[in-house]
Amino acid sequence: MEKTLTDEDKKIIISLEPNKPKGPFPKDSNQNDRSFSESYYSSTTKYGPVNRLWLCYSTVLDAAYCESCWLFSKLCSHWSKGLRDWKHLSSRIEEDSKSKAHIEACSVHDLWRKNRAIDKNLEEELKDHSAGGTAQEVLNILKNLDISIEKCYGQGYDGVRVMSGAYNGVNA
Ligand SMILES: [Zn+2]
Repeated sequence: MEKTLTDEDKKIIISLEPNKPKGPFPKDSNQNDRSFSESYYSSTTKYGPVNRLWLCYSTVLDAAYCESCWLFSKLCSHWSKGLRDWKHLSSRIEEDSKSKAHIEACSVHDLWRKNRAIDKNLEEELKDHSAGGTAQEVLNILKNLDISIEKCYGQGYDGVRVMSGAYNGVNA
């Protein structure tokens, strides 16, 4: 994880599923046989479990890391390099969740994910409709409008279908 990632690398990483292998995880004899646990992938709230989208585990390093901090934080923290402090992992997770650098990294990550989803769905739509220049312009405008992205993303598949209707309109 020392390598500097290019924007292309980041796009590829984001298009893949987050690295969340299922256990069992190796127990560390230097840490009273503690190990990572799948339970860290989500947090418990009074509304039930909530996925920690950012929390990943590297089998190669046997370390937990934060995908958002790794990809987008300017600060080089333990969370971007990999963390193996199993005893204090819960409190380290809390710390990261609240850190400014992490929150910023998460919002950039989120935006990239949304753009990625839009790119993929619309690219396919555009192919289907062989829409040409106008639709490409619309796509560019959309990419620049967080508000539209938010809306499309929230609506999921239906949003995309509505959008394709909009394209027909544009092309007519
Ligand atoms: Zn983080």
